[in-house]
Amino acid sequence: MSQNLAAFLYLVSGVLFIMALRGLSHPTTSRKGNLYGMVGMGIAIGTTLLLATPNFGGFLLIVLALAIGGGAGAYIARTIPMTAMPQLVAGFHSLVGFAAVMVAAAALYAPVSFGIGEIGSIHGQALIELALGAAIGAITFTGSVIAFLKLDGRMSGKPILLPYRHFINIGLLVLIVVFLAGLVQTESHFDFWLVLALALILGVLIIVPIGGADMPVVVSMLNSYSGWAAAGIGFTLGNLALIITGALVGSSGAILSYIMCKGMNRSFVSVILGGFGTGNGGAAGTDDSDKTVKQGSAEDAAYLMANASKVVIVPGYGMAVAQAQHALRELADNLKKAGIEVKYAIHPVAGRMPGHMNVLLAEANVPYDEVFELEDINSEFSQADVAYVIGANDVTNPAARDDKASPIYGMPILDVDKAKTCIFVKRSLGSGYAGIDNTLFYKGGTMMLLGDAKKVTEEINRAI
Ligand code: NDP
Repeated sequence: MSQNLAAFLYLVSGVLFIMALRGLSHPTTSRKGNLYGMVGMGIAIGTTLLLATPNFGGFLLIVLALAIGGGAGAYIARTIPMTAMPQLVAGFHSLVGFAAVMVAAAALYAPVSFGIGEIGSIHGQALIELALGAAIGAITFTGSVIAFLKLDGRMSGKPILLPYRHFINIGLLVLIVVFLAGLVQTESHFDFWLVLALALILGVLIIVPIGGADMPVVVSMLNSYSGWAAAGIGFTLGNLALIITGALVGSSGAILSYIMCKGMNRSFVSVILGGFGTGNGGAAGTDDSDKTVKQGSAEDAAYLMANASKVVIVPGYGMAVAQAQHALRELADNLKKAGIEVKYAIHPVAGRMPGHMNVLLAEANVPYDEVFELEDINSEFSQADVAYVIGANDVTNPAARDDKASPIYGMPILDVDKAKTCIFVKRSLGSGYAGIDNTLFYKGGTMMLLGDAKKVTEEINRAI
């Protein structure tokens, strides 16, 4: 295949990736977006294979690797529950970082195969590209592994704050730059491995101080890093498609991180510096003995809803755990049949990944025009008779609005306490992901309905 034709096909796949991102930005077009992405990737892989013209043995090896990797990916994607999606994404990011490191090492040890010079005389530009790709890849690798462990509950979500951590991180960064410069000047393999080791440590240190409520931003930030690592390696390999794709992932991840920071009223710098969620604003496990909680039954909730004229539903992570979205839609259908207005309110960080709630509601065929973002619905809670909070917690915590001492102070929340009655469905009075007590449980207008979200919703529906 000619280089020109390959460049053209790579450009086509790049355009398809842009159309994929565009499609994925809305639930109605997301399937089409996925399809564009798949076709684009198919073209990119096919072109790379034809361009490389490997011998038969090489070709077989590549096909074997594709079959093993693709098979494992397909199997994991089919079997993973929606609730485990965020850790899956973090896990996959770590693989992108790892691949970037491996390609960089291979290029350093076999430069002739990569067309970047010979051992001892690799082109300066190629050395910079592979060193940067390896460093960013290594940070992405260990950072994503820590994010995976935190999201999967194998490691506490609480921030781990080392003393002098900012100085340590800056020191590590300076050392990385120094040894990178050494690597570029002398092509020293020792410098390469030192850069890698320092970057691997930096990846761990950047992510461990980041607390529960900031994890969404971290996941999308690591997504962005993995893109830049891939783009760096794209330069080493001289592969246009990898450069385009890496840049798209890098920039879209960075934009998503920015949007999420804005949604949570957090500055990007303070997220990176970490420590969110370490304050003493009523952490889980505080003494609740002096607080009274009003508990109700499914029949009570049914009575309140059937007599309401407007119900706003606030789904959260617990709905995903209970897989209550279908039962919820059936309940909403019944309320609508009775002439009651029903709307859904989605917080930007509800659940465990961006768009988590939208995906679940779409799966249950909830009409898109009933689903509203925080800024579009918040003013309506004061006109609602019932706010039905199903498995959500942090995204409703008024401490974020009222308590300056709270570690989540400043994060916008859904103003469910402004509805006449707020019905809370969860299994206990325990905290949410950020590990902070929710003062709403003890307010007069709140009725707690303790139980599994799906079971309780079905019971309310039957009672109605
Ligand atoms: P939370 O984690 O604050 O609360 C979820 C609640 O659901 C828990 O308190 C739990 O209480 C309840 N729950 C769990 N299982 C069930 C069940 N089967 N039935 C009923 N209730 C159940 O969720 P929110 O959606 O309110 O907030 C999201 C949090 O996750 C934020 O802190 C956000 O920063 C963070 N996060 C978000 C990400 C994103 O991208 N969206 C990514 C990573 C973290 P109980 O145990 O008592 O039942």
